[in-house]
Amino acid sequence: MRNLKEEGGAPVQTFLDNLPKENWSSAHFKGNRYGEMCKNASESFHSWILELCALPICQMLEGIRIKLMVMVSERSGEAGQWCSVLCPEMEKTLSEMLTVGQHWNASRSSTYVFEDLAEVSVLVDLVNHFCSCHDWRIKGFPCAHALVAVQKNSGCMYDYIDDYFKLSYYRSSYATLISPIPDIKDMMHEGSEDVILPPLIKKGRTRTKTIKSVSKVPRAITCS
Ligand SMILES: [Zn+2]
Repeated sequence: MRNLKEEGGAPVQTFLDNLPKENWSSAHFKGNRYGEMCKNASESFHSWILELCALPICQMLEGIRIKLMVMVSERSGEAGQWCSVLCPEMEKTLSEMLTVGQHWNASRSSTYVFEDLAEVSVLVDLVNHFCSCHDWRIKGFPCAHALVAVQKNSGCMYDYIDDYFKLSYYRSSYATLISPIPDIKDMMHEGSEDVILPPLIKKGRTRTKTIKSVSKVPRAITCS
C-alpha cells in the first residue's frame, strides 16, 4: 500500500495502516475464505426479511421461522434431484477451470510437485493443495493450474476439492427440516396438561416512590 505524502515529505498514516492486513486483504487472510467476501452479513439478512421488519417482534420471529422453513424445504427438494458430485454451480466452475487450462502443460518436479507453463510459470504442490498463484489456498477450490497438474498426475479432480463444495455436504446442511407449528389456540382444550399457558399478569402499573437519600442521590423503591 502506498502512503501519501504531505508537502513536507512526511508519510501520512492512512486508515488501513492501523489495521492488520489479514483483516482487509485476501492475500494475507489466515485460513480459508472459500472465495467469499462478505462486507456485512446483517445487511444481507435484513434485505431478506425486509417485509417483516415493520411487524411486532413476535410476528417478525414467526415470519422468519416460516421463511426458513420454506427455504430449507426448497433447498432440500432441489438437492434431492441433483446427481453430480459437486453442487451444480461448482460443477460449472470446474468445467470453466478445465477450459482455461486445456492448452497448458505441467512438468513433474517430484512425485506430487509440478511446474505449470501457463501465462506465467507456477508451482503446484498436490499434497499440500498449494499453487503459487495462491488462488487454491484462498478459495479452497483448485485453480486452473492445479487441475492441469492433477490431470498430469492421472488423479481424480474431486479428491482435490474441499468437501464443502460437494453435494453430500449441501444435502446434509438441509437434511433437518423445520416442522410447522400449528396455532396454539387450536391445540388448547379443557383439562390439557401439555399446554403451557402464559403467566398470570397483575392488572395496573406498579407505582414507585422516589425519595432522597442522605447523600441527596435519588433512588426508587417499589411499593407493592
Ligand atoms: Zn494456480
